[in-house]
Parts: sequence; C-alpha cells; structure tokens
Amino acid sequence: MQRLPTLFLSHGSPMLSVQDSPAHRFLQELGKTLPRPKAILIASAHWESIGAPAVSLAPQPETIHDFGGFPQELYEIRYPAPGAPQTAERAASLLEQAGIAVNRSARRGLDHGAWVPLRLMFPEADIPAAQISVVRGATPADHALLGRALEGLRDEGVLVIGSGSLTHNLYEFRGQPLDSPTQPWAAEFSDWMHEKLEAGDRPALLDYRQQAPSAARNHPTEEHLLPLYVAMGATGDHAKAKRLHHSVEYGILAMDAYAFD
Ligand code: ZN
Repeated sequence: MQRLPTLFLSHGSPMLSVQDSPAHRFLQELGKTLPRPKAILIASAHWESIGAPAVSLAPQPETIHDFGGFPQELYEIRYPAPGAPQTAERAASLLEQAGIAVNRSARRGLDHGAWVPLRLMFPEADIPAAQISVVRGATPADHALLGRALEGLRDEGVLVIGSGSLTHNLYEFRGQPLDSPTQPWAAEFSDWMHEKLEAGDRPALLDYRQQAPSAARNHPTEEHLLPLYVAMGATGDHAKAKRLHHSVEYGILAMDAYAFD
C-alpha cells in the first residue's frame, strides 16, 4: 500500500465552510489530488484533553457546532461521514505501545476543526474519520512524539491530518474584512515557520515559542499550532515539509497548509 503523506491544515473561521476564498478553493482541490485514503485520523485544535490524548471510537460521529454567533446556515450543516473506530483503536494501541497513555471516547463527534476542512476536501462524506485530541499544556515535542507513534498508520492507508491555524490570535479580530492586508506580526511568524518547515529544522520548530518572531502574539494559547507537530511527528525525524497553500484571512489568520512526506 502506498505510504500517505501527513498534512497540516489551517481551518480558519467556521465561515471557511461556506465563504469562497483562496483557502476554500485550495481545500476543495486538495481532496481531488490526494490518493484516496481508507480512513482519516484528524487531530483538531478544538478537542483539547487534559493529561493524555484521547481518540474517538464513535461509529457515526455527530457534527459538532462548537462556535457561537455565526449565521444559521452553519448550524444546519451536517457532515455525515462514518466514524473509524477500528482506526481509532489502532491509534490507541500504537500510542500505548509507545508508552503514551490514551483515553477512549465512545461518543465524541467531529468538531468544526475536523468537519470544515473534511467537508471541503471530501464532500461525499464517504471516508471514515476519527478524531484525536491535542493535550492542553503539553509541549510541541510531546505532540511530535504522539505523531511519531502514529507513523505506521501512514502505511495502512490512513491519512493523518493536523487541523489548526498557522497563526491564531482572535483577540486581534475586530470585524475587519476577509481580504484585509496582512498584519506584519502575522506575516513575520508565518514566514519564519515556512523557512524552518521547508528546511526541516526540527530543533527550531520545536522551540518556536522562544525563537519565532511574535510567537506569543500569534498563538496566545498553543492549541491551534500543536496539530502541526502531530503531523510533523508522524514522519519520524524528518521535519521537512512542503507548503501546499499560503493565504491570509482577515489580515490575521494564516491559512497555510503543509504536507510532510
Ligand atoms: Zn479553530
């Protein structure tokens, strides 16, 4: 079986689901160009667990509308992809074999960090999908280890995705339009990440909080960047990535996507 790449995707605002933009169109195209996976395991910024990662074994995950104040049409969206309990169970046992404790959730559905990109990529909703959480307070290196334990899934037809946002400071969102000019602090951070990712500079990437310009301003909390380290970790020691997409929405949300191979 063909070894699949892993992906880091920026899911932006829930409006990405219904609002045309370069990132919206990119995700639609991406789904058509990827080899068709048997199943998807997606680490979403919007599922944070405490102490240990969790996987969802839900056979038919519900669509979770975990956001407020958006147009009604967003709350009516359902993404009825089947769950992937076998893939989730396999992920859990790989983590345990690597000495990482894991919790199993029987019912957790797909949050918007998962269904917004998946619905654009795979609108038929016919690829089984399971979620894995990020761990609040755990480091980028911890998340890279978590990804590393999952590396074998890539040979089993499972597409491992980290879904977050390359920059993510919603305190800086003040109703500015979608196509606002990029804020310099967001640009310098995404440029730095781009350089280090394309160079495969793993030590710098793991230490981004100290080394990257305006790191804390772009990520007041880290949950939207941690999925990148899960995707990176699933390539073993090779941190080298290819940028598949770059755009910025509202001047502050870098919508960048990377493939690790
Ligand atoms: Zn988000």
